[in-house]
Amino acid sequence: MKTYDVIIVGAGMAGMTLALALTSGGLEVALVEKQPFNDMLDVSFDGRASAIAYACFRQWKALGVGDVLEPLSCRMDEIFVTDGHLPGAAAPTPLPFFLHFAAGEISDRSDDEPLGYMVENRQMRKALYEAIQARGIRLITPVSLVDHREDGVFAEIDLSTGETLKASLIVSAEGRKSSLREKAGIKYINWDYEQSAVVCTVQMDRPHNHVAYEHFLPTGPFAILPLNDNRACIVWSETHAKAKALMQVDDALFFDHLLARFGEFLGDISLVGGKFIYPLGLGLAEEMHKGRLALLGDSAHGIHPIAGQGLNLGLKDVAALAEVLIEAARLGEDIGTDLVLERYAKWRRFDNVSTSVVMDGFVRLFSNGNPLLRAVRGVGIGLFNRVPALRKFVMEDAGAATGDLPKLLRGELV
Ligand SMILES: Cc1cc2nc3c(=O)[nH]c(=O)nc-3n(C[C@H](O)[C@H](O)[C@H](O)COP(=O)(O)OP(=O)(O)OC[C@H]3O[C@@H](n4cnc5c(N)ncnc54)[C@H](O)[C@@H]3O)c2cc1C
Repeated sequence: MKTYDVIIVGAGMAGMTLALALTSGGLEVALVEKQPFNDMLDVSFDGRASAIAYACFRQWKALGVGDVLEPLSCRMDEIFVTDGHLPGAAAPTPLPFFLHFAAGEISDRSDDEPLGYMVENRQMRKALYEAIQARGIRLITPVSLVDHREDGVFAEIDLSTGETLKASLIVSAEGRKSSLREKAGIKYINWDYEQSAVVCTVQMDRPHNHVAYEHFLPTGPFAILPLNDNRACIVWSETHAKAKALMQVDDALFFDHLLARFGEFLGDISLVGGKFIYPLGLGLAEEMHKGRLALLGDSAHGIHPIAGQGLNLGLKDVAALAEVLIEAARLGEDIGTDLVLERYAKWRRFDNVSTSVVMDGFVRLFSNGNPLLRAVRGVGIGLFNRVPALRKFVMEDAGAATGDLPKLLRGELV
């Protein structure tokens, strides 16, 4: 039976990044994925693009994936946030109630970094997969877990192929529906926002100039996120019923509804590719590790995409866990012990919980059409916008560049 340092279950973006990070520090890793990888690379698998914080992108650069992804990504140099008014801040006569974030206001960026990079999920998966192959990391797919057990020294998993793998530590990067988290008896708090996100891509007539727009509409946020080739990814949150209806209507009717929210300030637009739907909810594990199991990414915390922070939290988990494990292994410690794993949990717990709570508050505050609340919100947004120090903190925090930064988020290998 082959023994690894770490077995990562789930080859999503977080799991694959962890495999690269641990391998770069000399640990031996196996990656286990239940879905056929070719299916996961297909255009029909995932229509989303993600806003990747500038410090998280530094991690990919350090791991050799950033240089592949940078030409495929779109810089986000500015973000406009408005409360319900379309096109709000971008209108010829802007309303006073908007928030404006600009990369130039952040002082500690290196190499003219943007606020973040918009990257299509399929491009991220492809680049990470190719890096995994190039480093010779073992990826076992498609395969399911049959059993999982541990003794005082090792953890073992039995696979549907009949193979058993053994390691000092198992990491669940299985996403929200983690079977290992459930089997370990880790409590998981979760609720539904009664919203789904409809996602599509549009081609625009006028240049987007690397600006992202987020409009808080009564049924949920509507975001226009810049992509390369002058396209934009639309993330349009609606009640489950309306979102389902939008998925069923023909393209012409869908387009009419889209245009009513999108506005005309970016010129003519046309739909490119299909429509996708994602139910939105919150999930938070009460512990980040138990026995020889550690949770990572959405397996530990799944949040609303209102501020594009979900995967970024997972990438921050990767940087912290990789540093803790690599340093512990170098000191000759057993990397699957509570003593070591608690260092990871301590590093990540506050950020994961506080971000989940803040995002939950935003969803409740902004997905609400109460006229009084909307008036207060509008004034609040306008006032916030007038305090540069607050805006700067928000930009750096959303850029994953605040607090005690692990080396990978500073762009350095461990
Ligand atoms: C509409 C929308 C827009 C978003 N936009 C952003 C954004 O702009 N920025 C951002 O940071 N985040 C964003 N997010 C959040 C982001 O998509 C998630 O946080 C991220 O995909 C989680 O990655 P992960 O690798 O942790 O989990 P997942 O992507 O869920 O991957 C888990 C993997 O594990 C595999 N798996 C599961 N169980 C098993 C098992 N038992 N055995 C083997 N394999 C298993 C799955 O097949 C999958 O490949 C958005 C989310 C939504 C819904």
